[in-house]
Parts: sequence; C-alpha cells; structure tokens
Amino acid sequence: MADPAECTIKVVCRFRPLNSSEVARGDKYIPKFQGEDCVQMGGKPYYFDRVFQSNTTQQEFYNAVAQKIVKDVLEGYNGTIFAYGQTSSGKTHTMEGKLHDPEMMGVIPRIVQDIFNYIYSMDENLEFHIKVSYFEIYLDKIRDLLDVSKINLSVHEDKNRVPYVKGCTERFVCSPEEVMDTIDEGKNNRHVAVTNMNEHSSRSHSIFLINIKQENSQTEQKLTGKLYLVDLAGSEKVGKTGAEGTVLDEAKMINKSLSSLGNVISALAEGSSYVPYRDSKMTRILQDSLGGNCRTTMVICCSPSAFNDAETRSTLLFGQRAK
Ligand code: ADP
Ligand code: MG
Repeated sequence: MADPAECTIKVVCRFRPLNSSEVARGDKYIPKFQGEDCVQMGGKPYYFDRVFQSNTTQQEFYNAVAQKIVKDVLEGYNGTIFAYGQTSSGKTHTMEGKLHDPEMMGVIPRIVQDIFNYIYSMDENLEFHIKVSYFEIYLDKIRDLLDVSKINLSVHEDKNRVPYVKGCTERFVCSPEEVMDTIDEGKNNRHVAVTNMNEHSSRSHSIFLINIKQENSQTEQKLTGKLYLVDLAGSEKVGKTGAEGTVLDEAKMINKSLSSLGNVISALAEGSSYVPYRDSKMTRILQDSLGGNCRTTMVICCSPSAFNDAETRSTLLFGQRAK
C-alpha cells in the first residue's frame, strides 16, 4: 500500500452473516479470515485495507471506515463512499441500514448525525449551509428521487468545469431529522415509481449527495466539501442464455457502468495520467469527488455462502483491482 498520507483510495471488504434461507439450505460458510486485512477463499488470499467479519456491528464499521471521511469533508475535501457487491450481499444494509434504529442504522444516517453534532459544537461565527440531493441511475438515465417529474436529467459542467446533474433537486436541511425525512421521501418516490422494488434496486445505482458550505462571518472565509454516498447496482452476472429485452439491456448497462467505475478507480490507484471519467454517467458525475484531493472508499460487500462462491470471488477481484 502507498503511504497512508497520500493514499486516498481505500478498499475495505465486509462479509454479511449467512441468512436464514442459506442456513435452512445447509450452505457452508466459506471465508477464512486472517488478521485484519486478509480473507481467504478456496485457499486464495485477498488483501484489503480492512476486512470486516460477519459479526461486525454497524457502529464498529462506521467508526473504522466512515467517521474519518466526515472530518475530511468538514475540512473541505470531497469524498465518495461506494458499496459494491452482488444483490443481497449487504450494500443497502451498509449504506443505509435501518434509518431510524440507532443500533442498526448504516453509514449514511451516522454521517448525517456526525455532521450536525460537529455543527452544533462550533462557535457562532461559523455559518453552515447543508444541502442534499438524491437520485438514481437506471438504464443510464438519471432520475431525481426528490421530484418524480424529473426522469432523465443530464450531466453538465459548471463554470469551473465541475460536472453536476443539471436541474436535480437540492434540498437545504437544518437538522438530522430533516435529512432522514428527505431520504424517506426519496425512497417512497422510488417505491411508487416501480412495481418490484427489490428487482429495481438491484439494477439501479442510488446516489445520495451531501454538500456542506461553511462561512465564517468574521473572516469571510469559505469552505465547501461534498460527499457522494453510492449504493451500486448488483454486480451479479446475468445468465448468458435466456436474458433478452429489458433484462438484457439492464445487464449490459450495469456491466458497462460498473466496469467503467472499476477502470477509473484502478487508473487512480495506479496514478495513471489518463483517467477515463467520461466513459459513464456515474464516473462523470463523481469526477471531482474521486480523484486528486479526494477521499474515496470502496466497500466490497460479500456473501459468505458456498452457494455464492463464484460471485464472491469475482467481487473480491473487483476490489483488488483498485489496490
Ligand atoms: P443488497 O443491498 O446488497 O442487495 P441488503 O443490504 O439488502 O443487500 O442485504 C440483504 C439482507 O441481508 C438484508 O435483510 C440485510 O438486513 C441483511 N444483511 C446484510 N448485511 C448484513 C450484516 N452485515 N449483518 C446482518 N444482516 C445483514
Ligand atoms: Mg440494496
């Protein structure tokens, strides 16, 4: 690993426990953990910045992975946290968890709480403006989850050539509760718009953006940071035979956007002079929150069941490309 002070891309891996149907089926629990940074599958070791075993709590995961990023964003850095993995590997559990349950809440609600705790602890000369957006990318179309009439937004560049989603709702928020209400609203809109939410969420990327602007009324100093929190579409391969029409289109789009994300992350990790941001909408949007002076963390989510062995290994390999 590069010097931790310079290495801004972190890849961590989290295994969920066997679920009840896997237990009922008698599936074998296959990962073998070594130290804090290695997991073995079928005798082959995979190394990450950290590996989290199935019994890791939401709080432990947050403290080890996300807490530091909040501090950085409040210091004016941009950041991105992704959850990558096959459907039902724990991406949404990790990013959102149970939004209103203090123990089971995931990374996003904990980040929101920490940001406001920080604000409440600062002196009065500092003024904070926090706004959030919530959208998804489905079949390469950007849909605003806070305004159902916006179903095909486009990516533009501002005067500083920073890409952004043009016309996407930006909601100013003043408390953690307001942010949670906004997330609930977006999730509700998403439910209403589709017939099968589970299928839909496994085929779309959902992106929650927190923008923080600080202004010191005495010194007039300004500081901005933004954080993208991304729950990616399921990375599972769709069977080569049988898939046609929309399902095949979906699979192709997902493969394309996940592989372009992988290409961008590995180019950044290698310090390559050319980073192919323009290859997908998602990487364009995230451009100024991935490379350079940013904090990027990829969470590789895995099932421990022998039933998912092949998918889990391919997920682990994806994560290793970024190292
Ligand atoms: P994904 O978003 O990747 O499709 P989910 O996050 O919805 O998967 O997880 C699938 C199921 O497994 C959910 O019921 C979730 O609560 C449970 N689960 C996932 N990760 C964990 C974990 N680390 N500990 C306990 N339960 C988990
Ligand atoms: Mg999910």
